[in-house]
Amino acid sequence: QFPPDPQKKTLVVLGTGWGSVAFLKKLDTSNYNVIVISNRNYFLFTPLLPSCTTGQIEHRSIMEPVRQILRHKKAAVRFYEAEATQIDYERKVVKITDNSDIQGDVSETEVPYDMLVIGVGAENATFGIPGVREHSCFLKEIRDAQAIRTKIMDCVETAAFKDQTQEEVDRLLHMVVVGGGPTGVEFAGELRDFFDEDIKKLIPEIAPRFKVTLIEALPNVLPMFSKQLIDYTESTFKEEHIEIKTKTMVKRVTDKTVEAEVTGPDGKKSMVTIPYGLLVWATGNAVRPVVKDLMSRIPAQKDSRRGLAVNEYLVVQGTRDVWAVGDCAVAGYAPTAQVASQEGTFLAKLFNNMAMTETLENKIHELSAGLNLKPGNAAEVAQEIESAEKQLRRIKDIKPFQYSHQGSLAYIGSEKAVADVAWLNGNLATGGKLTYLFWRSIYLSMCFSTRNRVLVAMDWIKAKIYGRDVSRE
Ligand code: FAD
Ligand code: NAD
Repeated sequence: QFPPDPQKKTLVVLGTGWGSVAFLKKLDTSNYNVIVISNRNYFLFTPLLPSCTTGQIEHRSIMEPVRQILRHKKAAVRFYEAEATQIDYERKVVKITDNSDIQGDVSETEVPYDMLVIGVGAENATFGIPGVREHSCFLKEIRDAQAIRTKIMDCVETAAFKDQTQEEVDRLLHMVVVGGGPTGVEFAGELRDFFDEDIKKLIPEIAPRFKVTLIEALPNVLPMFSKQLIDYTESTFKEEHIEIKTKTMVKRVTDKTVEAEVTGPDGKKSMVTIPYGLLVWATGNAVRPVVKDLMSRIPAQKDSRRGLAVNEYLVVQGTRDVWAVGDCAVAGYAPTAQVASQEGTFLAKLFNNMAMTETLENKIHELSAGLNLKPGNAAEVAQEIESAEKQLRRIKDIKPFQYSHQGSLAYIGSEKAVADVAWLNGNLATGGKLTYLFWRSIYLSMCFSTRNRVLVAMDWIKAKIYGRDVSRE
């Protein structure tokens, strides 16, 4: 297909996350000259990312190379590993930069498009709190999980160092997680499992000093789950010796401490200083710079704060030929993989339909012209036109995007999970070991490829038999 077919429009897709990959999976690529641009050349199955921080799952098991995904498409798709730094929606070009370690003579250029799908996700929110970027670990990308895994073992080995002071041992073994959303909760659960099942056995002398604390600004963790499951999570954490500090808002971070404002039962506020060895920051999403820049240049986006405001067909408000999916789009839903992938699938259908509409319109046009030339078989041609018009009406009648919520799931440690799932026209809230088996089977079935599924299952078996690998890379 390359050089591009001049008869076809150029469709540029930004990102290789949940939204863009769901879009590419269902898109009939033979209708467009498709170009994918992303700063990572793989899809990442984020729901199992917290398990990578402890080595329960090896990181490559949840990565799927994008070139492998694109290889199976009907028509060739071009992929550029690059960061989109600016979208000029008036000139219809995307500026891209190669930020990788190895660069050639050209590392910056422009890619023109006829149609653009933005699926660049979101970045980590820090709310401008001093010290967060410098001293804490995030949990969004593979490199974050790898950094956490290394740091956990570094803290443990440093705590076990000869003649380490007791005060320093306590600090080094204090693992602090900020943010009681599902990312923070799942990570805290995985961390406690790692310690109880593996580290404790190998370095028993530090066992009594290991501590996990989860800090949350709101009165409870997991606000998107039902009250019953919030209570269940909090009581399970108590059993697991994970301390939850609610109504505690972190205001400043230093290299060894977090400073937080605590609201007491009487409403009075006080400051506390908490020493830590490892700090994981999981306070949700913020808008990426490339999206922020685009929003600032579109007058219709001036009131949007959390991302690109889109209409019910996912068209970016105030633009033409630009669509957005996933965490970078504001369509009135939570920023989850479930939403992003449903949006991607919807948009692919829309694009397939648009291409089909054009083909049918051309066909009707040609047939109508032929009708005047060959009056002999007019009845036959008229029938063909009618059938094409009927098909066209059906295709054009595409309903707006509507999200269908299948439920929420979260792992909470000790082989227990919580689930709020849609069930027989109602809702089922459940937590415990059986829910954990359900959680595992759902995520195993959702893995991108059979290869991923096999690797994840093997990692689980390996960790069960041999324990997690505690070597520090
Ligand atoms: P992403 O999946 O983040 O993909 C964005 C893509 O854009 C990436 O390929 C990135 O490399 C690329 N990109 C970024 N910037 C640029 C740029 N400037 N130029 C080009 N490319 C760029 N949701 C659930 O529903 N269930 C779960 O169990 C769940 N678990 C999660 C666990 C963790 C640890 C995390 C962090 C999130 C989890 N989520 C879960 C949320 C879910 O991962 C996100 O909502 C989802 O990834 C959003 O999809 P997206 O396509 O918008 O963005
Ligand atoms: P989140 O936005 O869900 O939660 C962040 C939490 O951090 C909030 O509860 C907030 O009150 C707290 N917070 C913010 N600033 C703080 C501060 N200074 N001090 C203390 N607490 C502070 O973020 P998340 O957990 O990263 O999730 C992001 C998105 O991804 C959500 O939509 C979530 O549903 C989705 N996700 C889903 C799953 C799952 O379904 N299992 C797992 C991970 C993420």
